[in-house]
Amino acid sequence: MFSLFKSQRRDPSIDIFRDAIAQEYHGIEHRDLSPGSLRIIEDLQRAGFEAYLVGGGIRDLLLGKHPKDFDVATNAKPQEIQRVFRKSRLIGRRFQIVHVRMGAEVIEVTTFRGSAQNSNLQQANASGMLVRDNVFGTVEDDAVRRDFTMNALYYNPKTHEVLDFVGGYDDLEDQVIRIIGDADTRYREDPVRMLRAIRFVGKLGLNLSEETAEPIRRLAPLLRDVSASRLFDEVLKLLQAGYGRATFKELVKYDLLKPLFPQTDALLKEGDDPHYEALIQAALTNTDTRLAEGKSVTPAFLYAALYWPQVHRRWQELEAEGHERSNSLIIAGAETLDFNQQFVAVPKRFTTTVREIWELQTKLEKRHGRRPDSTLEHPRFRAGYDFLLLRERSGEIAPGLGEWWTQYQIADESQRRAMIQAAGNEAPEASRRKPKRRPRRHGNAH
Ligand code: ATP
Ligand code: MG
Repeated sequence: MFSLFKSQRRDPSIDIFRDAIAQEYHGIEHRDLSPGSLRIIEDLQRAGFEAYLVGGGIRDLLLGKHPKDFDVATNAKPQEIQRVFRKSRLIGRRFQIVHVRMGAEVIEVTTFRGSAQNSNLQQANASGMLVRDNVFGTVEDDAVRRDFTMNALYYNPKTHEVLDFVGGYDDLEDQVIRIIGDADTRYREDPVRMLRAIRFVGKLGLNLSEETAEPIRRLAPLLRDVSASRLFDEVLKLLQAGYGRATFKELVKYDLLKPLFPQTDALLKEGDDPHYEALIQAALTNTDTRLAEGKSVTPAFLYAALYWPQVHRRWQELEAEGHERSNSLIIAGAETLDFNQQFVAVPKRFTTTVREIWELQTKLEKRHGRRPDSTLEHPRFRAGYDFLLLRERSGEIAPGLGEWWTQYQIADESQRRAMIQAAGNEAPEASRRKPKRRPRRHGNAH
């Protein structure tokens, strides 16, 4: 979307700290903006307030991408916003945000935030993390409180100008993600900013500036202080938003996997089982492709893959100790989910499905009698079968079983019986691997 070089755009009479970029340069058209957010800005401005479009929506438009949503920032206080819009709701504790309904849209409207040292409205804990932050400020204050310069561009639909207080427009042109202010301080205030930096690298294909990248590996452990439920949300934005494969690579590169998935991280680093990484990559590729095709995805499948290295390792251990195969897998799965809740809190409605996907891995091995038919009836059959295919593709298990199930699904009744017969004759891996039975007592032996 950038049409002209910076030097031609700059008006030397404009204060360097308040760059106003005219429409002829930034090229944003109102037809690219959501009607609801334009309406909200108009209403706020008519009521005498300052109001702008800001954040990811403006950033994505300037990059020529289709924005996910548009946020509005204003100098109206939350209560004042609510007075202008009857259909609005106050949400958020850490930051107060107003959700305004406009037709089918719900737009986030936030009051400009400022920073006030020693104010009782802003509190940090021992590691410098902000736990409360409701100090209001001017649009300039609001800009410097944002995370990256490219996310602090303000568009005023009335003047058609983009306001830039932090050099974000130039950074976007240079394809650079730059944290606002001192990187160490900003990451300590909110360690999730490190994940956000990586998310934008994966999603937008831009580069981190040196000072933005440098502290990440060092400060990554601070993510341990972030609530496990917030991390669940962030992981989905990282890995289940269409750019999972690229983003995962960046997480590994910056050592951010460790605070999120410590065991998976350890097993990947150990490198003994190259198929672990292959399986996660394949799952992410699968998810990216499905999203690109407009298909649905579930966090359960993603987590089944992300935790698989730990499950698989434990499953093998338990089996080696002589425990029954299916039970070993169930125990390994339960232990893994339990252990990981302290880092990333996966809601129960998903962990139930994650367990089922894993449990299906041994169910799918059983191909005698009516077993295949009841497995086929399992509500998670599809996800379990897809997961089996991933395991084959990653090289963890030899191919064959997946293809058998592919055929079985489309086979008619008599073909199915023949397939079961044939599977029985070929002595499936599962029965060969069964642990030895306890020797029977002599008296019962015939
Ligand atoms: P996306 O396109 O993925 O929604 P986004 O930049 O819009 O990206 P949001 O989480 O919607 O991300 O946040 C909206 C804006 O709020 C950001 O652009 C940024 O200006 C600001 N922001 C969000 N999270 C933080 C944070 N942790 N610290 C500082 N500013 C933040
Ligand atoms: Mg957004």
